[in-house]
Amino acid sequence: MEIIHAYKFRLYPDFRRQKEIDESIFLAHQLYNKLLEKTIQSRKVSQRTINQYMNEILKEDKRYYKLYAHVRVGIRNRMLRTYQNFFRRCKEGAKKKGFPKFKSMDRYRSITHIENNGSFRIEADRLRVSKISGTIRMEMHRTIEGKIKTLTIAKEGNEYYAIFTAVQHKPIPEINDTNPVGIDLGLNNFIALSNSEIFQKPKFYKKAEKKIAHWQMVVARRNKGSKRRQKAKMHLQEEWQSVTRQSNDFMHKLSQKLADGGFTSFAVEALRIQNMERNHTLAQSIQNASWGRFIGFLEYKAQERGKTFIKVNPDNTSKTCSNCGNIQEMPLSQRQFNCDRCRLQLDRDTNASINILNRATLGQRGSHAQGENRQYLPAGNANGLEELRTDPATAGEAPNL
Ligand SMILES: [Zn+2]
Repeated sequence: MEIIHAYKFRLYPDFRRQKEIDESIFLAHQLYNKLLEKTIQSRKVSQRTINQYMNEILKEDKRYYKLYAHVRVGIRNRMLRTYQNFFRRCKEGAKKKGFPKFKSMDRYRSITHIENNGSFRIEADRLRVSKISGTIRMEMHRTIEGKIKTLTIAKEGNEYYAIFTAVQHKPIPEINDTNPVGIDLGLNNFIALSNSEIFQKPKFYKKAEKKIAHWQMVVARRNKGSKRRQKAKMHLQEEWQSVTRQSNDFMHKLSQKLADGGFTSFAVEALRIQNMERNHTLAQSIQNASWGRFIGFLEYKAQERGKTFIKVNPDNTSKTCSNCGNIQEMPLSQRQFNCDRCRLQLDRDTNASINILNRATLGQRGSHAQGENRQYLPAGNANGLEELRTDPATAGEAPNL
C-alpha cells in the first residue's frame, strides 16, 4: 500500500531569505489572480488553455520567471482543482458552489514544488530551494520516512514553514476482525465507543474565544489597508492557528490510541456534507469540522494497520434502541436512552455507537439493528495527511479545526 505522510517543519529564514520567499509568494498570488482573470474573460478552462494563458502572462512580464517552473505548474493545478470543485458542487446542486475567487495576499500564502526533481534539497538542518539564494535553517523535529515527493513553503502569521509530503510503500498486515468497534460522534461526548468508553475533547476554541473576539474587533476598527490593521489580522490568524494546532494534536493522539488499541475494525457514521453546510452556531461548525478531521486521521491510521474502516448510514442511529430495535423520538435534551419497549437504559451516545457497530457488522452476526443500508466506503485516501495541520492550499483561509 502506498502511504503518503506530510511533515511540517518550522523554517528560520534570515531577513534576506524572508524577502525572497515573500516575493515568491507575492508573485505566485499575482499569477494566480491573472490566470483567473483570463479564464473568466475567455470562459475557457482546461489544462491546455491555462497553460496558454500562463505563457501569455510570462511573455508580458518576465518577473514571473522568478518562480520555479514547477511552482508555476503547481499554480495551474491549484486553479484547475478549484474549478473542478466548483463544477462538482454545481453538479451536486450544493448551495455554496464556491466559484473560484480572486485571492488577497491574506489568503494566498504558500508556494508548492510539485515534484522532487532537484529543485529543493535538505542539507543537514538546512533547506536549499531553487530560486532562493543560499540555504534556510530548518527545525526537523522528526525524520522523514519514505521518498519525498513535494515541498510547500508556507507563511502562517509571521512564521515560515516547510511542508514535505513523502510516500512509503508498506505491506498491509492481515487482520482477523475479531474485535470491531462502533464510534458515535456524540452529543454528550466528543466520541462514544460501543464498548461504553467515552472521550471528551477539551474546548480549545472556548479558551481562546475572548482573544479571538478581541482581535476581530480590532481588525474591524482599524482602517482598511493600514499597516496596523494588517498587524491585527496577523494576531487574529495566530490565535486561530494555535487553536487548530491544539485541536489537531489532540485528535492525532486519540486516533493513534484507538488505531493502536485492541480494536480490529472501526465503524463510524458517514457525515453528511449537507448537514454540515447548514447554518449552525460557530461551536457546532467547529465540532463538525473536528469530527471530519478526526475521522480522516483515524481512517488512514486504521488502514495502515490493516484494519477495516466502515462508514454507515447515520439515519436514526440515536433514535433506535440498540437492544430491541425500537425507534422512538430522542430530543436533543435527552442524554440517556430509555427504551419504551424493552426498558434498556444507556447513555444516548453509547446506544448510538452500538447501532453503528451493528450496521457495519449486519449479516455477519446477530443484530437487532433496523438499518439495512450498509455502506462500505473505500477506506483511505490522501485527505488525512499525518501532521498536516494546515492545508497548504488553503493556508490562512478558514480555520481548520
Ligand atoms: Zn429496546
